[in-house]
Amino acid sequence: MAENTHDVVIIGGGPGGYPAAIRGAQLGLKVAVVEKEKLGGICLHKGCIPTKALLESAEHLYHARDESSAFGVVATDVSFDYAQVLNRKSQVVAQLHKGVQGLLKRNKVDVFFGTGTLTSPQTVHVESSAGGQDLSADNVVIATGSRPRSLPGLEIDGKAVISSDHALELTTLPESVIILGAGAVGVEWASLLHDFGVAVTVVEIMPTLVPLEDKDIGKELGRSFKRRGITVKTDAKLLVESLRTNEDAVTVDIEVKGKQESLHADVLLVAVGRIGNTEDLGLDALGIKSEGGIIPVDGYGRTNVPHVYAIGDVAGGFLLAHKATAEGHIAMEHLAGESSFPLDPLRVPRATYCRPEIASIGLLEEEAAAQGRDVKVGRFPFAALGKALIKGQTEGFVKMVCDAKTDEILGTHVIGPGATDIVAEMGLAQMLEATPLEVGLNIHPHPTLAEAIMEASWDVDRRAVHVFRRR
Ligand SMILES: Cc1cc2nc3c(=O)[nH]c(=O)nc-3n(C[C@H](O)[C@H](O)[C@H](O)COP(=O)(O)OP(=O)(O)OC[C@H]3O[C@@H](n4cnc5c(N)ncnc54)[C@H](O)[C@@H]3O)c2cc1C
Repeated sequence: MAENTHDVVIIGGGPGGYPAAIRGAQLGLKVAVVEKEKLGGICLHKGCIPTKALLESAEHLYHARDESSAFGVVATDVSFDYAQVLNRKSQVVAQLHKGVQGLLKRNKVDVFFGTGTLTSPQTVHVESSAGGQDLSADNVVIATGSRPRSLPGLEIDGKAVISSDHALELTTLPESVIILGAGAVGVEWASLLHDFGVAVTVVEIMPTLVPLEDKDIGKELGRSFKRRGITVKTDAKLLVESLRTNEDAVTVDIEVKGKQESLHADVLLVAVGRIGNTEDLGLDALGIKSEGGIIPVDGYGRTNVPHVYAIGDVAGGFLLAHKATAEGHIAMEHLAGESSFPLDPLRVPRATYCRPEIASIGLLEEEAAAQGRDVKVGRFPFAALGKALIKGQTEGFVKMVCDAKTDEILGTHVIGPGATDIVAEMGLAQMLEATPLEVGLNIHPHPTLAEAIMEASWDVDRRAVHVFRRR
């Protein structure tokens, strides 16, 4: 017999689960969250927040050490204290953790600490060190997130071969690191570790870094990383069987265009993607589909079994916190019978917080072309932008991909300073189906980084005045 009756039980209290719980409470639902570790999930404790806090320290170091003299600021003997870097990171996490706990409490969400398993589409068993209990609900939302994955035969031992989770636990930095995988997680760590003085080699099997992004963006990041002194190996396959490790060193061979070379470092950081936490949820017994750690859902988060929703990383698509949060809102409004809009994956912005930053939304140029669209592109380089020059950050560009026949903005791709902030404008523009002309007519404050968006939109129809185009 289920001991507690709720309208909704959410399994997992990450950025998918906990905001969904709050939204449910706002809608008048009696909501429970089951969490086996800490509220806030990977994003707060092992992902978005702690890594960005480290990146911020790395950025301060880089500015003081490498750039300040150009700004007329004399910073001599610049050094860093990694213990304080970690301390600050932990303070940021702790403050936000407290905030999440407080918000759930104030919204009267019942939190059960323990591991949740579905025993029917409307009952969840919670197992904790204190014992077990059953919760019943009209609907269950699975928000159990994901964990790092590896390659077949490549064991992550947490010492010489580590995941991004282990990287956060390092109390002293290695002298050198090989990073396997140049997706968002790999290049963020590459950027920050390099700024802290670690010798970084990035190994990526695809031809460009950030292979899920527009090819021009990946190429630009590769050039930037090389200029900084990061060793970049693209088209490079790591030969797992060649790996030799001991407590404080790794040697491994890679194959680049048919040729083998050997790499040596203190650690190998594996960042080849993540796998959804679907095991032990009892899905098979209930006929809830899951494929390779992902639960297929529709635009409202509904699984193939009535009353069971899935949101966030475990529901696949872009593995991003804001996607998880958006899906949580949509699922709660849907199950509460409120009007809601299904998730449109083309409206999920992507963000990568290396230097230079990368952000995008919508279709890549190559995807648009593959769909048979007649593509026209507007571009604007940060090197031509006053604010970028003022900041001393002139790498990168904005690229806007539009349909030449309909004037629809299909995608926007940014690499450069402030990319992750300024791309938000394009989320709104694309949602409201603005044309490039309308984005350009939106008067942008000067001098700002956001002007690069305006200029790129003008450039789609060759109206930009701050770039010269031969007529
Ligand atoms: C290094 C790194 C950096 C990242 N940076 C960013 C970024 O800057 N921006 C961004 O948007 N995204 C970023 N991400 C991705 C982001 O962290 C995830 O997309 C997001 O956390 C997914 O949210 P979620 O709620 O689906 O799952 P999670 O955050 O994984 O939360 C799931 C929760 O469920 C709990 N749980 C699992 N199974 C059970 C169970 N059976 N019972 C009870 N509880 C359970 C877990 O303990 C966890 O707390 C980053 C990820 C990593 C690894």
